[in-house]
Amino acid sequence: MENFFDQTFGRLEAAIGEMDPRPYRVDQVLRWVYRMAVDDFSLMTNMPGSLRGRLSESMDLRPMPLQKRVEADDGTIKFLYRLSDGELIESVLIPEDGHNTLCVSTQAGCGMGCSFCETGTMGFRRNLSQGEILAQIAYAVRYLGDRQLLRNLVFMGMGEPLLNLDALIPALGVILDGRGFDFSPRRVTVSTCGWVPGIRRLGKADLGVNLALSLNAADDKTRTSIMPVNRKYPLRAVMNSIREFPRRSRQRTTFEYVLMSGVNDSPEDAARVVKLLRGIPCKVNIISYNLTSAGFLAPGYERMEWFQNLIGGSGQLATVRRSRGGDIGAACGQLVTSASECAHG
Ligand code: SF4
Repeated sequence: MENFFDQTFGRLEAAIGEMDPRPYRVDQVLRWVYRMAVDDFSLMTNMPGSLRGRLSESMDLRPMPLQKRVEADDGTIKFLYRLSDGELIESVLIPEDGHNTLCVSTQAGCGMGCSFCETGTMGFRRNLSQGEILAQIAYAVRYLGDRQLLRNLVFMGMGEPLLNLDALIPALGVILDGRGFDFSPRRVTVSTCGWVPGIRRLGKADLGVNLALSLNAADDKTRTSIMPVNRKYPLRAVMNSIREFPRRSRQRTTFEYVLMSGVNDSPEDAARVVKLLRGIPCKVNIISYNLTSAGFLAPGYERMEWFQNLIGGSGQLATVRRSRGGDIGAACGQLVTSASECAHG
C-alpha cells in the first residue's frame, strides 16, 4: 500500500483517473484529505462506494502510526510517530494566542552534531520522504480539527531540512498549493544550521518561504566549537548565501541565537552579531538553552533580556523567545527518540 502523501498531484490524477474518469474526482479527494483532514476514504461521502473501496485498497492515509502523544504544562504537544521501517520521529504543536505552530521533522536523527542539541546525539538515521513530512502536518490538522487553526509551519524539528531538499521541495509544493494545505509562504519557515548548497538551492526554487539560520555565534571560532558544520561552511560563505536568498517585500530572515552562559552571551558577542547582520533585513530570535545531555548552562531570563537590549540598542530587531514544552523534552534542541521511550510510553 502506498503512502497517499508521497503522491504528486499528477500521479494522483493518473491513478484516480484510471478508477473513475470524471475529472473532478481528484479535487474531491484532495479537498477531503488536505482541507478536511479526513483519514479514511470510506468517509468521503460525495464519491461512489466502489471508488472509495478501490482507493482504500491502494493508498494509505495513515502511513505512520502515532506512538505517543504527550502534553506539556504550557499546552505544547509532542507527537511521536513510528515510520514503516521502525524509525521514530517527532513533531511539536505549539499553541499561542488562538492559533498554533507546528514544528516539523525532515530527517530521522541528524548528522550535523551541534553540541547543544539532543537530536545531534542520535546521529543521522535517514531522510524522511515527502509523504512522511506531509503526514506530520495532516495528523496535526486532524488533531486540531480545522486546518485554519494551524497558522505556522516551522521546519525546525529533527534533522537538517536543507540536506533533504529532494523531499522537502515537493512537500513544500503541496503545502503551498491551493489544492493542498494552502499555506501562505509567509507562514512557512525553513531553518538551517548553515548548509550553503541547500540555501542556494532553496533560494533558486523561489517558493517565497522564510529562511531561518541557527546562528548561535557570530565568530567562526565559537561557532565551530558548537556547530561542526561551520568548519565546512564558515560564516562568510553562509552570510553570502543568505544575502542572495530571495526575499519578498518586508520579509525578514530570522537568525536563531541559543544563548548559553559563558559561551556566547558576552557584550562582545552581541556586538559581533550586530556587525555580522548589518544591511540584512532580519530579526534575531534569542532562545534560552534547554537542558540536554551536553551540560551547558542556561542564562536566566534577565540575562536574555539584557542581551536582547544590547542587540536591539543598535536598531537591529531582536526578540526573546520563551522556551515551550521543556518539561516533556519538546523544546528547541531537545527532540530525541529511543525505542525504550516508546516501550515505556
Ligand atoms: S540543531 Fe538542527 S542541525 Fe544541529 S544537530 Fe540539532 S537538529 Fe541537527
